Amino acid sequence: MKVIEHIDKATNPLFSFEIVPPPRGRSIQDIVDVVKILAPYNPPWIDVTSHPSGAFYNEREDGTVERRIYKKRPGTIGICGVIQNRFKIDTVTHLLCSGFSKEETEDALIELNYLGIHNILALKGDGPNYNKKISKTRTINQYASDLVEQVNQLKNGEFLDEIADCVKLDFCVGVAGYPEKHFEAPNLQTDIVNLKRKIDAGADYVTTQMFYDNKNYFNFVKECQAADINVPIIPGIKIIRSVKQLQSIPRHFYVNFPDDFVNEVLENPKHVVELGIAHAIKQTDELLASGLPGVHFYVMNDAKSVAKVIERFV
Ligand code: FAD
Repeated sequence: MKVIEHIDKATNPLFSFEIVPPPRGRSIQDIVDVVKILAPYNPPWIDVTSHPSGAFYNEREDGTVERRIYKKRPGTIGICGVIQNRFKIDTVTHLLCSGFSKEETEDALIELNYLGIHNILALKGDGPNYNKKISKTRTINQYASDLVEQVNQLKNGEFLDEIADCVKLDFCVGVAGYPEKHFEAPNLQTDIVNLKRKIDAGADYVTTQMFYDNKNYFNFVKECQAADINVPIIPGIKIIRSVKQLQSIPRHFYVNFPDDFVNEVLENPKHVVELGIAHAIKQTDELLASGLPGVHFYVMNDAKSVAKVIERFV
């Protein structure tokens, strides 16, 4: 079922999850174990992140440096296929502009359709430390709105080349939104204008970047509505489990923690796991009380903390 149908039909709170593929060389069992913890909470869907190739450097014994280009976490589509077909849980495959030509994206969409996967999250992608050279005979999507447009053209059977008697590919398309603005955007208003481009290109819903102060989410929704964005805006939450994350999360995701939460963690560092869970419970309860159909959890691979937040609802 499509994400948008899950939202339309929801009678109980929907808790969806986001997980990352294991690093190259690890077993699919890593992901299966995470999904086994999450499955009893009846997730309507699980997102699986995607990662472009990066440059990795290895110093040889003679002092020279070897540069290798590869994906640290390959396998997004395969993992989605396993979750959807083995666990019967809908998956949302993240698709990126960065590092993929339009032709490769079209191939990925054909593969997803064969696997029975009809949900994608269309993203620009985190800027890798390596910019794949796209051959002059290939084309690229620069912004997520371009990718949304490509996906939606397939709904009308418009492949990159004209194909007679082709199958139409129908995907539900989500896009990213940033309650505290995207780091490259000069201000929230400009970012929302660009978000509107993604909706106008045919996106069905928005999933937000993580936030730790619900006021930021509520303000973002208000600003989106003022900009005539009327699709569901699903709030994203990530539970912290170490004091170090008070620095690493703002550094990587450009989001802020409320002062009282920071003080509480710094005064009780040994209880950071419980404090992270308690904060997420407070956020979740307030979001659901505002009438939202559900919350999206950035599980990454820490399913146990998420389970603690939502076990009250099962
Ligand atoms: P866009 O919507 O393309 O926007 C990027 C920037 O360009 C913004 O500042 C925007 O305001 C601006 N912009 C957009 N359109 C225009 C335009 N026409 N003209 C000028 N400026 C414009 N990254 C990964 O690599 N893999 C993942 O799996 C992944 N999953 C994510 C899931 C969620 C829910 C979120 C919120 C983020 C995720 N990211 C992921 C991170 C994301 O790829 C980065 O934040 C990226 O920098 C921006 O992606 P976007 O799709 O929001 O980009």
